[in-house]
Amino acid sequence: MFRYHTVPVTPFAQNASLVWDDATMQAAVIDPGGDLDRLLSEAARLGLRLEQIWLTHAHIDHAGGAGELARTLGLPIIGPHPGDQFWIDALPEQSRMFGFPPAEPFTPSRWLADGDTVSLGACTLQVRHCPGHTPGHVVFHAAEAQRAFVGDVLFAGSIGRTDFPGGSYEQLVESIVTRLWPMGDETVFIPGHGPESTFGRERRSNPYVGGT
Ligand SMILES: [Zn+2]
Ligand SMILES: [Zn+2]
Repeated sequence: MFRYHTVPVTPFAQNASLVWDDATMQAAVIDPGGDLDRLLSEAARLGLRLEQIWLTHAHIDHAGGAGELARTLGLPIIGPHPGDQFWIDALPEQSRMFGFPPAEPFTPSRWLADGDTVSLGACTLQVRHCPGHTPGHVVFHAAEAQRAFVGDVLFAGSIGRTDFPGGSYEQLVESIVTRLWPMGDETVFIPGHGPESTFGRERRSNPYVGGT
């Protein structure tokens, strides 16, 4: 069965999530932005076998620890979509701008595209491409568990910023309406920052995309 545990990391309180198949304890970490010691001790406490790194997008608070973690543990980095290559190239600059420790450069082992899947043991998650916050942003949908890991696409009561290079408000709203809402009102989403919510609640009350 699919399980997950979220650990806020970095000064931006970014929700890194450990996800795993509890039959085999094969695990991935989604968006290891930093605080790798904390993430690894949580993984050890939970008895996980960390095998993969999955990225929603390449902003520093989500991808800043990916290179170091991949190198030290020999893990593949899966995602994001190639549209975020320029953000990966800009990681050193992002580190300096936001006062993060220097991010190790990396090349994803596998880029993701809309309709792809990622797997852990018997658990398979669907990948949806959701541009708007960044051009190469993807989300991970565990359909059976009714959970979605949406990075900075949608938050409880808000949506991702679109004022960065390559951002688009229209594209972000379209991504939310055409790619997230069809996952169902009951689906609980884990945003990149802040508390969980459901798509149904956001459809009713989110001031940016409510009523869409
Ligand atoms: Zn972001
Ligand atoms: Zn973020």
